[in-house]
Amino acid sequence: MNISEIFYSIQGEGVEIGLPTVFVRLFACDLRCSWCDTMYAVEGRDFKKMTVGDVLTEIRGHACRRVCITGGEPLIQRDEAEELAKNLVNEGYRLVLETSGHKMPPPVFWTESCVISMDCKCPGSGMQDRMDFDLFRKLRPQDQLKFVIADEADYQYAKRIVSEHPLKANIIFQPAGGVGLEWLTDRILNDNIGRVRVLPQLHKIIWGEKRGV
Ligand code: SF4
Repeated sequence: MNISEIFYSIQGEGVEIGLPTVFVRLFACDLRCSWCDTMYAVEGRDFKKMTVGDVLTEIRGHACRRVCITGGEPLIQRDEAEELAKNLVNEGYRLVLETSGHKMPPPVFWTESCVISMDCKCPGSGMQDRMDFDLFRKLRPQDQLKFVIADEADYQYAKRIVSEHPLKANIIFQPAGGVGLEWLTDRILNDNIGRVRVLPQLHKIIWGEKRGV
């Protein structure tokens, strides 16, 4: 596998926010979001080759039974991500798969042991045309659909998607770029969108813009 980094931290985003987690960041992505904050895992050659066994050994070295498989886009290395996840589920780990809303996750990620955290890319990302809305509708109540909101146009887009589609997953609105948490919270409260959670990126509040956290 091409691995960008493996580290132990807290989950900074989504419904598992704050929970201690081992992160496995897979290298490479086929999208180019304008506000991407992990370009080191998208372009260049800053990765190491590891077998699935190597990755499992490193994960087992942490006293933590929760693993987040992230990227880049982890499903670019689909077979390896699936093999890793199967081993982890068999060993009783809880998983989060962070993926970008344009690739179908393999079956292991649809088991009870895994939360699928899928992004719906808004216009500000420049990647909204790559999204597969059928995937969003398949997400289960334990999963989450995350919208990163960079401006008013993104907010209006996200609001429309949430109202127009029969979504079962948790809905997260997360501020990016020019908009702040207070602005986004006020917009949600004013529009009374009852089922949306507004959440920050907790790791950035704690440590700022830093790798490996
Ligand atoms: S999908 Fe994720 S990793 Fe890929 S460019 Fe967008 S933000 Fe970066």
